[in-house]
Amino acid sequence: MNTPNPLRNIRQDIQSMHAYAIQDSAGMVKLDAMENPFALPPELQKALGERLGTVAINRYPGARIEDLKRALARYVDLPDGCALMLGNGSDELISLLAMGCDVSGASILAPQPGFVMYAMSAQLQGLTFHGVPLTADFELDEAAMLAALREHRPTITYLAYPNNPTANLWDAAVIRRLIAEAAAFGGLVVMDEAYQPFSSRSWLEEIRAEPTANAHVLLMRTLSKFGLAGVRLGYMVGLQALVHEIDKLRPPYNVSALNAESALFALEHADVFDQQAATIRAERERLIAALADMPGVRPFPSQANMVLVRVPDAQKAFDGLKARSVLVKNVSKMHPLLGNCLRLTVGTPDENTQMIAALQSSL
Ligand SMILES: *Cc1c(COP(=O)(O)O)cnc(C)c1O
Repeated sequence: MNTPNPLRNIRQDIQSMHAYAIQDSAGMVKLDAMENPFALPPELQKALGERLGTVAINRYPGARIEDLKRALARYVDLPDGCALMLGNGSDELISLLAMGCDVSGASILAPQPGFVMYAMSAQLQGLTFHGVPLTADFELDEAAMLAALREHRPTITYLAYPNNPTANLWDAAVIRRLIAEAAAFGGLVVMDEAYQPFSSRSWLEEIRAEPTANAHVLLMRTLSKFGLAGVRLGYMVGLQALVHEIDKLRPPYNVSALNAESALFALEHADVFDQQAATIRAERERLIAALADMPGVRPFPSQANMVLVRVPDAQKAFDGLKARSVLVKNVSKMHPLLGNCLRLTVGTPDENTQMIAALQSSL
């Protein structure tokens, strides 16, 4: 008797997908994933260990989740009329949004190249994704974006501020006009501020100044690039009525008691993380200057903890860096606009010095 293949129960489109690839980084200088390169200072490691030791891990996460929401609301100075919800990383929030916004005819739109999870969340939910190319220097193509908004009337438009992998902040005046266009047909706009600690601007100021024009805007952030990538904590801010609906999609205990306690601890020591972010911003400028001095190498402007750089031969440079134990991300095949581009995460001063030397030898 033939037993039916159990894989027949798995969606065909899932079976055709590639799993999210994580590069092996053992023994490498790891500059591929926009992680904060600084470990907690030893005295804080000890204090955190003691704190986590007291967490009631036999209980489901409880009141500390509300404490964390209050601490984050204070941290962002939550605008009037807004609420805040938590995700297991902002990746989870992106998935929940796709699920919750799966109304009839729904679609998701984002500029490209952009963060892969926007398109992925659409695909997994069975929604159409509309990618609109950026210009050759990675600015928003306003005419193309406006035309796409009018044509597709997407349920959700994602704007990463700053963008990944290009690292730049787009023109606020252009974004304002895109947000107004989405308002005209009743679409949502998500401002994804994963890189906020390294950016000179935040859309939160805009929301505070122009609440009515931004009533359909959700602002998403994460503690990952701040320094807690291992903890998994994202959050989203928007009008109470909107956030309360999206919050219903959340699995009841999506943020663990250990995650919440770690995040609370980090916010109590926000000054330590602010110092680290300041060092990273200064190192970013040093890295950009060193890259600009290399023949045939073009770094693009960055407001994040990464630098997108075009080199004469991305594969050769990537392989050369890897042979010298420096792991970066080769994004050159991700999108036609990214030809021969590498994405370098800003590391510690020593790591950056090592990366610069390794790149010089690899060109
Ligand atoms: C890293 C990143 C995220 C996801 O962050 P997590 O909170 O770790 O899931 C979201 N958006 C952008 C643009 C990112 O680069």
